[in-house]
Amino acid sequence: MAAQVETFTFQAETKHLLDLMIHSLYTTKDIFLRELISNASDALDSLRFEALTRVELLDNDEKLEIRLETDRPARTLTIHDNGIGMSREEVITNIGTIAKSGTRELREKLRQGVSGEQVAELIGQFGVGFYSAFMVAERVTLVTRRAGEAAATRWESTGDGQYTLSDATRANHGTSITLQLKTPDPENGVEDYTDKWILSRIVKRYSDFVSYPIIFQEVREEEAIDEAGNPQVDEPKTNVVEDKVLNSMKPIWMRPAADVPESDFNEFYRHITHDQHEPLKRITLRAEGTLEYQALLFIPSHASYDFYYHTAEWGLRLYAKGVLIMEQCAELLPRYLRFIRGLVDSADLPLNISRQMLQQDRQVGVIRKWLTKKSLDSLQTMAEEEPDKFRIFWEQFGRALKEGVSSDYDNKDRLISLLRFQSSHDAENLITLKDYVRRMKEDQQEIFYLTGESRRVVENSPHLEAFKAKGYEVLYLVDSVDELVVQYLTEFEGKKLKSVVKGTVKVGSEEESAQVEKELKQKTEEASELLRHIQEHLDQYVKEVRLTNRLTTSPVCLVGAEMDYSPQMERLLQMGQGGRPKQRRIMELNPQHEIFNRIRERFQHHRDDAGIGKYAELLLGYALLAEGSELPDPVHFNQLVAELMLQTLSHTPAAE
Ligand code: ADP
Ligand code: MG
Repeated sequence: MAAQVETFTFQAETKHLLDLMIHSLYTTKDIFLRELISNASDALDSLRFEALTRVELLDNDEKLEIRLETDRPARTLTIHDNGIGMSREEVITNIGTIAKSGTRELREKLRQGVSGEQVAELIGQFGVGFYSAFMVAERVTLVTRRAGEAAATRWESTGDGQYTLSDATRANHGTSITLQLKTPDPENGVEDYTDKWILSRIVKRYSDFVSYPIIFQEVREEEAIDEAGNPQVDEPKTNVVEDKVLNSMKPIWMRPAADVPESDFNEFYRHITHDQHEPLKRITLRAEGTLEYQALLFIPSHASYDFYYHTAEWGLRLYAKGVLIMEQCAELLPRYLRFIRGLVDSADLPLNISRQMLQQDRQVGVIRKWLTKKSLDSLQTMAEEEPDKFRIFWEQFGRALKEGVSSDYDNKDRLISLLRFQSSHDAENLITLKDYVRRMKEDQQEIFYLTGESRRVVENSPHLEAFKAKGYEVLYLVDSVDELVVQYLTEFEGKKLKSVVKGTVKVGSEEESAQVEKELKQKTEEASELLRHIQEHLDQYVKEVRLTNRLTTSPVCLVGAEMDYSPQMERLLQMGQGGRPKQRRIMELNPQHEIFNRIRERFQHHRDDAGIGKYAELLLGYALLAEGSELPDPVHFNQLVAELMLQTLSHTPAAE
């Protein structure tokens, strides 16, 4: 009785992707084998993990392995594994659809167009390695049986937009994937994948370190021989099946690093991360002493599309004496170092350790401390010896590293020397705090910074005027996490970090600023009535109006008290908990500015002049726009501006 065959349609992205694969000009088509072997290896790992708690899934004497079987006349290659296998439902979700989490990004990439070389990148980025089979196969047939289940499922597709499912039989758990191969076309990268030597070369190149044997199943004809060992030409030949293991299976980190070519490390990196880019840096570590463990760590050269999402998973692979015991162990590194990929192999951990045990394990704590320190040191070396690489690193992962300043007290100094900032000193290069302090002017007492949305916005901020005039450098903290960084980083080499939009500013030496303060105080007293008048008029938005030495050319700006949030921080907080009441700011007027002098004169002559209030409102709007903030009532502001224009245009003084 023929099994019932059901036909399904691929989701749009999958179909698009398959088209890309099939027509891909990508020349390294060999990588399909790496992808299928990597899936088989994952499936074997999964079975091993599941069998730790469900012993019935795996017979004691069953050997976990990957088998390559070819049929030259039929032109097929089959990759067998006796791993976890898939249920019918799993086939539909794992093979028929692309992981929900990545589809939006994938759709965007596909929309922008993908070149031949980028196909490989997609494979790694979105976990679509299985489809690479269609680069070399006209038809792909998969038969799979989930461990612990009796029924098997058969999936088949020619990659033309549809696939079929039917019931099948399979003697054991696991998956077999049969490729009906395209005609070899070496010029376009399609080799004869039934050839033992070609397969052997590809396995050696990409999958040598896979920890399960990859066996080439060879059938040889053998002549019969007599007892003396002489060939019996007349007797019929017999078929002998011979297994040949193609990979060395040796854990790459157990070989002396000096003997391992960098390309092997890179291939291993690709195997564990699915990242098609070469890593930026490799860190090989070995600890010997009371505890014996080693680590092979990599710093990627690109942040994955979801790296900064809260949901992105992370963790190192954890091995015990060369055997993988956990794929993503987040306990081995602090979260802010989550960009580091790789593994730890410990000689002293039990094979079936649980997550809960890990969290309490003293040894894991020791390893984590050690890895953290070593990784930060290694970044420091990179910064000093390979500044170009470090620049790439910082661009991709600097934001993550900054999180460490608020959470890792033990390594605060190490972290701070890695931090890079934009600054008024240099429009091109990022600077360190050390650079800043080295350049500080003799009479400069504090490290000044300004937070804001972008370099362009902060660069033109009126708050910088006095600093520019003095030649003081100002850090531009234009990354959203910078606000948090400066809450924890309050001092560097004995110099306080000081926001230029908070409190009062000290420019010049102690004596100079004392003198300036004195003068300001006097002028403030003289203008106290006017300042109070303006404050009362703007009471809803402004809690204080005062005179400042912060400005040279602008008439006005808004600042906060020392403990207030900056406007950016406030915006962040409002996003978090909608409708938080806005803080009132402090309005600062420039006593040297003509506008201030004119208003003061006018106020002296006409105390009840309604015009003063309008000027106050205009000044508020001016200050808000100058710092890149929104106006509370743009319509009203525009009316005031229009009114003002009409007055000037008709040369009619308002108060006559
Ligand atoms: P990825 O391996 O990155 O998840 P693939 O396209 O290579 O993406 O595979 C998709 C999914 O199909 C896998 O995550 C796995 O769930 C399933 N799969 C593929 N091959 C096998 C196999 N040999 N055994 C069991 N499951 C498999
Ligand atoms: Mg895969």
